[in-house]
Amino acid sequence: MPAFQLRKLAVFGVGLIGGSFASALKQAGAVQTVCGIGRSRSNLERAAELGVIDEIASDVQSAMTGADLVLLAVPVAQTDRVLREIAPHLPPDCVVTDAGSTKQDVATAAQLALGAKLPQFVPAHPIAGAELSGVEASSPTLFRGKLVVLTPLQGTAPDACGRVESAWQTCGARVMRMTPKRHDEVFAAVSHLPHALAFALVEMLAKRPDAQELFSFAGAGFRDFTRIAGSSPEMWRDICLANREALLNDLSAYQTALATLAEHIRSSDASGIEALFRDARTARDRWINGRK
Ligand code: NAD
Repeated sequence: MPAFQLRKLAVFGVGLIGGSFASALKQAGAVQTVCGIGRSRSNLERAAELGVIDEIASDVQSAMTGADLVLLAVPVAQTDRVLREIAPHLPPDCVVTDAGSTKQDVATAAQLALGAKLPQFVPAHPIAGAELSGVEASSPTLFRGKLVVLTPLQGTAPDACGRVESAWQTCGARVMRMTPKRHDEVFAAVSHLPHALAFALVEMLAKRPDAQELFSFAGAGFRDFTRIAGSSPEMWRDICLANREALLNDLSAYQTALATLAEHIRSSDASGIEALFRDARTARDRWINGRK
């Protein structure tokens, strides 16, 4: 039995991330009861059938009763609303965390919704996931060896941070800390921009009159580049809007990079094209090798 133990985990949004967190803690023997609450009754019933949760809460108050850890794993635009719902029922010994892919919006929502209970809230983002959604796609091993970024706020209690860190470590993850602002800048570049590009490329081609013919010839390269365009439109809509400023900066830098490449092609600048591609390949190789 791990040293980290929970009496009751309440999961708001038992999808890919919420379901995987619950399953990992259950598999580790670190939680007595997992209670799920969400928008879709059928998804929660499926989660109970799969053994991901033990109970379905009929309302927020019953979900919160006796909970010592609460995970919000809902699309980021729902965080504000859920925090407001739980605030009046939050027991003093209970810690709340989230899994949202953006952090400045979550920090603002928590400050407004939780007031004096803000020290009990620890914002977090697991850098693990998939283009699949829902509890069916969840797995107790999703976070093994993966990174989780905590973005504690000025008022966050150190022992609350410690509890959330231990929970993620029990799921097999490594934990590091960042400010919410830096988090959003970093993930705009390496996550939100590539998702936006993949969606935009597929949608641009799909709108062409010859789309069917084009897709019939698309191979492995197209599949790799566009895999993430299979992700949840609702989740990514919310992420793009929540991290609007950083994402718009990166979209504009990408447009400049594309304009440079287009100019090299227009002027038949073979060495310019090759140098750009070589630099990109070197940077990618360095990144891949650094991960091993
Ligand atoms: P998901 O669609 O698999 O699950 C989300 C669940 O939340 C669904 O079951 C939905 O019914 C429920 N829900 C929606 N609104 C709700 C509300 N108001 N109250 C209660 N439940 C509600 O999505 P997911 O991939 O598990 O993502 C959850 C969160 O994790 C998002 O904030 C996302 O940004 C973040 N995240 C996702 C990934 C990923 O790769 N999918 C990775 C890291 C972080």
